Amino acid sequence: MAMRVWDYVEEYEAEREEILAAVDRVFRSGQLVLGESVRGFEREFAGYHGTAHCVGVDNGTNALVLALEALGVGPGDEVVTVSNTAAPTVVAIHSTGATPVFVDVREEDFLMDVKQVAAAITPRTRALLPVHLYGQCVDMEPLLRLAEEHGLAVVEDCAQAHGARHHGRIAGTMGHAAAFSFYPTKVLGAYGDGGAVLTPDAGVDANLRRLRFYGMEERYYTVATPAHNSRLDEVHAEILRGKLARLDAYIEGRRRVARRYAEALADTDLILPRTAPGNDHVYYVHVVRHPRRDAIIEALREHDIHLNISYPWPVHTMSGFAHLGYSEGDLPVTERLAREIFSLPMYPSLSEGAQDKVIGALREVLARI
Ligand SMILES: *Cc1c(COP(=O)(O)O)cnc(C)c1O
Repeated sequence: MAMRVWDYVEEYEAEREEILAAVDRVFRSGQLVLGESVRGFEREFAGYHGTAHCVGVDNGTNALVLALEALGVGPGDEVVTVSNTAAPTVVAIHSTGATPVFVDVREEDFLMDVKQVAAAITPRTRALLPVHLYGQCVDMEPLLRLAEEHGLAVVEDCAQAHGARHHGRIAGTMGHAAAFSFYPTKVLGAYGDGGAVLTPDAGVDANLRRLRFYGMEERYYTVATPAHNSRLDEVHAEILRGKLARLDAYIEGRRRVARRYAEALADTDLILPRTAPGNDHVYYVHVVRHPRRDAIIEALREHDIHLNISYPWPVHTMSGFAHLGYSEGDLPVTERLAREIFSLPMYPSLSEGAQDKVIGALREVLARI
């Protein structure tokens, strides 16, 4: 049977009755948009994080857009982030009218090199946008100190880091706001698109609620500043409430898969994921590195194993961002990684048998490549 890096069908079979019951509850409730399920999920997702406010939105990209706008980011501003991320991080900055500014990542863990951020700050910088990439957190303490010194907002991109911890603090509680995606592949995934923003600040929460609702005060139905329609649907919120109760179990399942890869591949020349000091990794994707990446992926296809690259093109080299003026060579670590990384199958319901198939094929290929 063909294997891919992600599959949800086994998980659905195991959770089917609960999910269909959640769908049925919503469909029978008489309220399909901004009702009890969204309010309940917002309360429970905030509670899981021990943070004051959660606003459910339609996807992770718009979670970033709304978080930035709620903190006052707009045209003329600069936002410092990384090019080594999913393109939507940068698309979101662009959507606010602000200009993305990139720093490189660290060779050992592929995360934002916080030491480079100070040099990227200009009088126009308004916010810092660290991406907790692949399931582990950016080194937040020095970044938060810099933000404080320069009076900058900090928005955490938590789309890949549900439940990840950094020196005991949970991802999404360290900045002024944090954006989550519930795209189906994510560590907490809906059955379609979804997202949320967390914030400890009541004023930012109020801004977010207007921004997702055309710019209207929900109570008065009048627009002060025209904004977006970015609401989380009731049906996804109700499914997510059930899945949130299992988030820690999903994470444990992902760690179990990562531990087996680590044991079975330790004696190969594949570079395995490294967890930075103080981090608890949730393995949204299991990214490995090898100079002969393309040949390995090609050879594994003969075993009917179809792997992904997260991500094959650094954002600063994409034609849609040519106007930013970056060129090949500007972010050498990011560019090197894009040529050498690939992802192994990773999801909590991945069976040991399926994992053994990947391990066996990979060992066979690595021995001859
Ligand atoms: C998935 C992802 C997003 C975008 O989330 P969507 O729900 O797909 O819009 C943003 N940033 C990162 C790092 C992501 O992985």
